[in-house]
Amino acid sequence: MSIVDVDRIGEPAAAPESDALFSRAQKTVPGGVNSPVRAFRAVGGTPRFMASGKGAYLTDADGREYVDLICSWGPMILGHAHPAVQEAVYDAIAHGTSFGTPTLNEVLLAEEIVARVDPVESVRLVSSGTEATMSAIRLARGFTGRTKVIKFAGCYHGHVDALLAAAGSGVATFALPDTPGVTGAQASDTIVLPYNDLDAVKAAFAANPDTIACVITEASPGNMGVIPPAPGFTAGLRALTSAHGALLISDEVMTGFRLSRAGWYGREGVAADLFTFGKVMGGGFPAAAFGGRADVMAHLAPAGPVYQAGTLSGNPVATAAGLATLRHCTPEVYTHLDATATVVGALISDALAREGVAHQLQHSGNMFSVFFASEPVTDFEQAKASETFRYNAFFHAMLNQGVYLPPSALESWFLSAAHDDSVLDRIASALPLAAKAAA
Ligand code: PLP
Repeated sequence: MSIVDVDRIGEPAAAPESDALFSRAQKTVPGGVNSPVRAFRAVGGTPRFMASGKGAYLTDADGREYVDLICSWGPMILGHAHPAVQEAVYDAIAHGTSFGTPTLNEVLLAEEIVARVDPVESVRLVSSGTEATMSAIRLARGFTGRTKVIKFAGCYHGHVDALLAAAGSGVATFALPDTPGVTGAQASDTIVLPYNDLDAVKAAFAANPDTIACVITEASPGNMGVIPPAPGFTAGLRALTSAHGALLISDEVMTGFRLSRAGWYGREGVAADLFTFGKVMGGGFPAAAFGGRADVMAHLAPAGPVYQAGTLSGNPVATAAGLATLRHCTPEVYTHLDATATVVGALISDALAREGVAHQLQHSGNMFSVFFASEPVTDFEQAKASETFRYNAFFHAMLNQGVYLPPSALESWFLSAAHDDSVLDRIASALPLAAKAAA
């Protein structure tokens, strides 16, 4: 299985077709990729160009097969090329791919979301998680008549100008505290606070009376590695926002419909005013949404004054894929995902413990990640201080043995319904050498 010798298992290895494609891509695509973390900058080496996926496996341009522990950064909850999703997509395409009119599937998808997440009474479809959070914030400002937004360091909400401050893995990887191109004015309305620190939120409300429109938080963060909210943190945000007339926005783009039928809300049950969704609800296509309290959503155009729109919003093919995916996310799927995450986590911990490597295996339901740190990691500063160089060696050792992990220490790992015992065997057999490489 291994493609390099054991002594160099933790180092980037050649992948001739991917290497050639990456060189070619860099001539016409900035950095050779269309989303920065794909470029392997954090871990080194050449990104693998994938040619196909089936179930829990990906095959790269060199014909090498990998267990996929990214699942397209979350969406592929049923596994790649799931027959029911494919059939729904083929059927949708046969009827035409975009009309720019209302369609039945949009209503069905909205009904699915409203039926699952109790506080969501009304929902607007968009095409990316970034659009969802950007629109939710505009709506919160329009509804409250206030300007400021509280976000937490390490939480990523897409590449929304005002939210690209201390925005988790992608930006941290490139050592950009903010990013050129975001104006001081855009950033000045954003208050960035440490995650899991309610006192900091209290102090921010006290220092900015009647100006904070909303608090946006990842429902359970996965973009600085997996750092679940401390008990009472989200409920505390709910109480503080209500007390100060601000809205609470729960960003469930990553967790929505993945951590349970109702996402993180289904596990913790704190009713935010607005929620954002993406990833799983698009079944591998660009579909996302924001929704929540009917009185807030009524402020959106055309019913209300807050403008928001999209040529491809509610696209018939994307909504068909999303509907098929949600309908196949049965209770058994979630039971399987949670149980598999527990087993994979235990395998990793055992292998690292055997090599005496200090680490924290952190779970948020079936999302998980490993920090090379000796204490539990509860915020972004601690996440960045973890020994990411160990992760990089671990990553390459797994990759070289056919297991594809996120190419950054500060990302969540994802599983699918197709991750079965054969997958667990493949992971288990790769772990001893990977743990040695991390030691
Ligand atoms: N919000 C969260 C929590 C995310 O994890 C992401 C993407 O990873 C986004 C928003 C942005 O979504 P998209 O990449 O679809 O724009």
